[in-house]
Amino acid sequence: MAANDWQELARGVYALATGVSTGLIVSDGQAVVVDSLWSPSDAREILAYLEMSHPEAQVKWVVNTHSHWDHTFGNQAFAAPVVAQRRVYEAMVTNLSGPWSPAGLDRMRQEMANAHNLEGVQVVLPSVLFYDQLDLVVGRRTVHLAHFGGHTPGSSIVFLQEEGIIFAGDDLVVGRYPFMHQASVEEWLGALRELQAMKPKIVVPGHGPIVTGSDISREIAKFRQYFEQTMEGVERLMAEGRTKEEAMGSPSFPKYWEQGYERLHQANIGRVWDELAAKKR
Ligand SMILES: [Zn+2]
Repeated sequence: MAANDWQELARGVYALATGVSTGLIVSDGQAVVVDSLWSPSDAREILAYLEMSHPEAQVKWVVNTHSHWDHTFGNQAFAAPVVAQRRVYEAMVTNLSGPWSPAGLDRMRQEMANAHNLEGVQVVLPSVLFYDQLDLVVGRRTVHLAHFGGHTPGSSIVFLQEEGIIFAGDDLVVGRYPFMHQASVEEWLGALRELQAMKPKIVVPGHGPIVTGSDISREIAKFRQYFEQTMEGVERLMAEGRTKEEAMGSPSFPKYWEQGYERLHQANIGRVWDELAAKKR
C-alpha cells in the first residue's frame, strides 16, 4: 500500500482498492472515512494520505459498511466516532464474546501475523447507529448511507449522489466469489437490484478493482447470475432428494471465478441450502 495506490474519483473523493477497499470523502476541512481496513497500522496509512492531500482536514466520522474485521479493525486509529447500521453494531458486540474476545484476538494475531499486524488491536464499536438511512454532512457535501443487507444483515452502502459514486462494501466484490457466511441470498439479490437502480457512475467494491460505466452493470449481473444459478442448482438437488453435503460437492454448479473456488464456493452452496431449507419449513 502506497500513497500512489490511491485514486481520486472526484474532487475530494478518494479510494484505495488494494486487497480490501477504503474511501476518503473530504470537504471544507472535514473528512469521512469509509471502512477502516484490517488493522490500526493500515488505517494510519489513510491518515497519512489525508495529511498529505488535505493537511487542514480532520476526520469527522468513520463509517463501517459492515462488521467484518477487514473493514473495522482500523477504527481505533481515528479520533472520530464510528457510524454504522444498528445490526453492524450488534454483530460486533456479539463478536466480542466470541472471535474477538481477548483469546480470539490472540489467535487472530498469530494466524494473521504474516499478512497483517494485529498487535495492539482494540475493537472500537460504532457509537452512532442508523436503521434504514442516514445523511452525514461533511463540509459542503452530503454523504448518504443506506442499509441494504445481503452480505451481512447490517450491510450498508455509502452514496454520493452528485457524483454518482457508491462505496458498496462487500455487497459487491469484483473478481472473486462472494463471502456468504452471514449472507441472505434473497436480501443480496434485492441489494443488487437497488444498486443497479441507483445508476452509479463509479462503484468501489469491498474487494477488487474500482468499476466504472458499463462495467458496473456487468459486474452486478455476474453476481446476480451467480446467486440465481446457485439457488436454482440447490432447488434442483433438493427436489432430487440429495443431501446438503452432496450439493456442496456437486460439480453441476457453474464456476465463476478461480480464486477461492473450493472453500468459498462450496460454503456458499451450503449457505444457500440452509436459507432455502429454512424457507420450506
Ligand atoms: Zn471484506
